[in-house]
Amino acid sequence: MTAGNDQNNPYLSQQASVQSAPVVESSDEQRMIIADQDGERHLVGVVQEVVLLNPATGERRFIRSQYLIRSEDGRLMLNPGKEQIYNCSTCGRKGLTQFSIHFCVCQTVHCLNCIHELQDEQGNPLYFCKPCFRKERIRRFFRWLFSIRIEA
Ligand SMILES: [Zn+2]
Ligand SMILES: [Zn+2]
Repeated sequence: MTAGNDQNNPYLSQQASVQSAPVVESSDEQRMIIADQDGERHLVGVVQEVVLLNPATGERRFIRSQYLIRSEDGRLMLNPGKEQIYNCSTCGRKGLTQFSIHFCVCQTVHCLNCIHELQDEQGNPLYFCKPCFRKERIRRFFRWLFSIRIEA
C-alpha cells in the first residue's frame, strides 16, 4: 500500500521527469541588419545556433536555424549580408532586390515604377531617372533638329 502511494507521489517522481527534459546549454544568434542613411534599420537575416543537452543521457543536440526574410518586392533574401538590397532614389521604396530595380545612366537606383526607358540606336534599352530622362530627350531633340538642317 505504501509502495503504491510512493509511485503516485509527485515529489518522488519529479526527479525522473526533470532529468529527461533537454536543457539549452548554449545559444548564439547572428543578425544581419541594413542601416539606412536616415537612421532606419531593416533586419535582412537571422542565424540561430542552439546546443541542447539531455541531462539524463549526456547527449548533445546542435540545432542551427537560418531565417530567410522576404524582401519588399516579394522575393526571399537568400544570401543575407552578401546580396545587394536596394532603395529607390525616386519614391523611396525600400528593401528591393536586383529584379525590381534599374540603374540610371547617372548610376542612381530606381524601382521599375520610377525608371524611364529609351532605346539606343541598336534598339537596346537604356534606363533614366526623371532628370536624366528630360536631358536625354532634349539631347535627342536637338540631334534630330541638327540632322534636318544638315540634310536641307
Ligand atoms: Zn520608385
Ligand atoms: Zn539619372
